[in-house]
Amino acid sequence: MKIELICTGSELLTGTINTNAGFIGSKLYNIGHELYFVTDVSDKKEDLKNVLSNAISRSDVIIVTGGLGPTFDDITVETVSECLKRPVYSDEKVLENIKKYFLKKGKTFPEINKKQANILKSAKILENRFGTAPGQMLNFDFKDENIKIRKTLFLLPGPPREMISIFNENVEPFLKSYSIGIKKSVSINVFGVAESEVEELIRPVIEAARFGYNDTVKFGILANDSVIKVKFSVSGQDEIFVDETINKLKLGFTNILKDNIFGFGDDTLASVVGKLLIGRKKTISLAESCTGGKISSTITDIADSSLYLKNSIVVYSNESKIKLLGVKESSINSFGAVSKQTAKEMVESILKLSSTDYALSVTGIAGPGGATRDKPVGLVYIGFADKKKTEVFRFLFSGVREQIRNCAVNASLDLIRRRLM
Ligand code: AMP
Ligand code: MG
Repeated sequence: MKIELICTGSELLTGTINTNAGFIGSKLYNIGHELYFVTDVSDKKEDLKNVLSNAISRSDVIIVTGGLGPTFDDITVETVSECLKRPVYSDEKVLENIKKYFLKKGKTFPEINKKQANILKSAKILENRFGTAPGQMLNFDFKDENIKIRKTLFLLPGPPREMISIFNENVEPFLKSYSIGIKKSVSINVFGVAESEVEELIRPVIEAARFGYNDTVKFGILANDSVIKVKFSVSGQDEIFVDETINKLKLGFTNILKDNIFGFGDDTLASVVGKLLIGRKKTISLAESCTGGKISSTITDIADSSLYLKNSIVVYSNESKIKLLGVKESSINSFGAVSKQTAKEMVESILKLSSTDYALSVTGIAGPGGATRDKPVGLVYIGFADKKKTEVFRFLFSGVREQIRNCAVNASLDLIRRRLM
């Protein structure tokens, strides 16, 4: 079954990130389908018509997001109506619900919102729990050389929260019922080995699988800020075969990548570190310089992080390192703010001040300025301490400022993970 996505919105063509496409693509992948085309298109009727008519002729399921709002640039329903030559009517119940929505918020009903009750004839109305415009699902026949082909069109609102809820409640169950056979996907999440190295290490497993299973197994490697995801999916008619193949491959990869694997699926370094700290009933404190609080921000993205993160201090200037953490001025003068010695004093000081089981410090040069002859951009020292010992590790990350800082965050979390294992 060919599935295609059209995201409408001129803003998507001028820099707004299309998060709807990311969400829908990964959802489909996880239920064994894939997207054949994703198109961003402007809010101009001619452009949308063009994209729609292509989609209708080549795909079985077409999902359109956006353009269901009340303003002049929201033209999805009328454009589909013209493209499919399908009339539109104003649905009384939908209109009533929209009016109620405004009443509940203590607002008067704006006449322009009437338009959102326009429904394609015979379309199923998909309730919108978070906004006024409902989604729509339309089954229609497409004639290809006198053969009628049944196709399905989904219209979903653009605002991500509204789109996601309608997708989960309607589109996903519909597509799940059409999955032919079984397809399961696995992501093995790795840190501490470069992408090219991972590729080289796992190549024998991939090649053996390609030889043994042909097209039933698909592989991919994704790298982001030094986090590598080895992804594979296995498809087949028989669930036992699929599960056995997955387990065999998982074992093959695990034997090679060992403790560089920090998790599977949606596991992140922060979530894994959180589980380890909770499991061992340990606490941690941080002293951050070049990461400017990003490590504590990433840690506190995880619910219940208050169980293990006691405090984090951002000591960005030399002065604050000295005044707030008691780093010796002489150490900074002789070794520099970005040095093993400074990282060591930072981490020992924050451990003592916070009375936690562990502490971590980071100091580095995120760039683009600040490099010296022997200290290049990307140089980062990470200190880790418990009551018995202090260790400092030297890293040299590449990339632009944002990547260097993100790599420093990930390397810090990975260091905590390895020390806890
Ligand atoms: P619309 O459905 O055109 O009324 O969309 C309303 C708002 O939803 C837009 O202004 C965007 O901020 C957001 N939005 C629409 N489409 C997307 C998309 N594909 N990804 C992320 N945000 C979107
Ligand atoms: Mg729009």
